[in-house]
Amino acid sequence: THGNHTIYTYLVKQAEVYRDKPFLYFRDESISYASMLERSNQVAHWLINKGIKKGDTVAVMSKNSPHFYDLWFGCAAIGAIILPINTASTARELEYFLSHSDSKAILYDEDFKSNDLQQVSDELQLKTCHSISGAWRKEVKACKKDFVEMVSVSGDDVCTIMYTSGTTSMPKGVMITHENYLFAGHSSVLYQGLSSYDRYLILLPLFHANAQYYTSMAMLVVGGTIVLLEKFSVSTFWEDVEKYKPTVSSFVATIIKILLELPVHPYERVHAIRQIGYGLFVNKQDIENFQSRFGIRLFQWYGMTESITTNIVTPLYENMPYDPNTGISAIGKPALGHEVKMVDENGNEVPPFTAGQMIIKGPSLMKGYYKNEEATRQTIRTGWLYTGDQGYANHEGYIWFVDRDKDVIKRAGENVSSIEVENVISGFPGISDCAVIGVPDKLRDESIIAFIQTAHETISLEELQSFCEKNLSYFKIPQAFQMIEEFPRTSIGKVKKNVLRERYSQQIK
Ligand code: ATP
Ligand code: MG
Repeated sequence: THGNHTIYTYLVKQAEVYRDKPFLYFRDESISYASMLERSNQVAHWLINKGIKKGDTVAVMSKNSPHFYDLWFGCAAIGAIILPINTASTARELEYFLSHSDSKAILYDEDFKSNDLQQVSDELQLKTCHSISGAWRKEVKACKKDFVEMVSVSGDDVCTIMYTSGTTSMPKGVMITHENYLFAGHSSVLYQGLSSYDRYLILLPLFHANAQYYTSMAMLVVGGTIVLLEKFSVSTFWEDVEKYKPTVSSFVATIIKILLELPVHPYERVHAIRQIGYGLFVNKQDIENFQSRFGIRLFQWYGMTESITTNIVTPLYENMPYDPNTGISAIGKPALGHEVKMVDENGNEVPPFTAGQMIIKGPSLMKGYYKNEEATRQTIRTGWLYTGDQGYANHEGYIWFVDRDKDVIKRAGENVSSIEVENVISGFPGISDCAVIGVPDKLRDESIIAFIQTAHETISLEELQSFCEKNLSYFKIPQAFQMIEEFPRTSIGKVKKNVLRERYSQQIK
């Protein structure tokens, strides 16, 4: 464990060692380790002036910018808790986050309409409700740069409350400790073979787990440099890569697909990126095309907000095995210090190649859900985190992700992984993306519905049907195919299957 270390004390140490070395590049700004520390101290003093104390929660709704880091470390310095909020939140959602989390302050992007917010802030009697504007920066810059009087903050204290994506239910407030973060950072360094020469390209939103744990934290603990983009942009991606020369990055599946669709770019093979981690499923063909076209190794990781993206990792120098039956690649092996088991409904461990709920034990587990003891008790039982995801292992301990429990389709007594069906369908020429769901069926438990998006050309549904018949057991073949223009997605690009199910049931009424 990291004892009394916090992400702030790490920054203090690293500022001594790395001083003028860039901690962060953003647009034309370069922020050194030393100045990152000063900026964090100034924010800490500003927060103290506003009456924020240890244990208070400070909500931050901000696009990717260095101010996110100022606030993250600034809060950590005084033992306050940061609550990153999705910038796409509506006023109603925002109010839920602020009140449920007992936030004492909110800082929000200038361009967010603040009319409703002021009212919410008054109702909740926040100590401060401030936009991250030029005026705010001025106020902060006028604060002292030196250390904040050290309050004792321990590794086990909560650093961040992060609401889950809400893909399946009301978002829950995951409490993440300093230790969780530091462990994630070290684990990332270990498994990705990172050093202080590395530059991590971050283009996913900072208010999500992915851009914090395995990425920002890795650079902090190893003394590397973060290359921060406001967001992924197709038109400037390769120019940004040329300009900032990142060496590693983290993507979601959609970005991989988009880059593969682009015409050849002059920089696409003359860059310094050696590997990119991705979450969520990508099919084998796309992985191989991406690796050979761009000369970048892709590796998958599996994780969740509740356990900090480190629990199952791809061993660095090994090739992932593919399941001969489904052609799907493993997600990896349990990370250092972690145990993973598959259990049946009664909590009994199941043998290799049998699917069960994945349960995880180890130092990346959250402290619990904020003000939700019931959900915490259901999720963490006797030290094991019940992921709500199905998986299976082979004899060597490699693990495959099957599906979320809630997305597994029951068809005539068989369990069907929506991901396996999606994998097959996405291999049909002309299909750019698809999502498969189960909907109630009187006779056979559930029917399988495939929503498909085509690239440009029109496709033959008959051919698709016989393609499925050739590649899938009869009970896995969809009963219906539906064209869709755009998938409903979360801000990190996950398809909201509950919305698809809802839409489908509206449609057949
Ligand atoms: P909520 O819990 O609010 O419904 P969410 O589960 O989508 O939202 P996150 O914690 O961001 O919120 O996502 C974690 C989930 O993402 C995992 O439980 C798993 O279902 C899915 N996931 C993570 N990694 C992978 C992967 N490599 N392949 C497939 N699915 C993955
Ligand atoms: Mg979840």
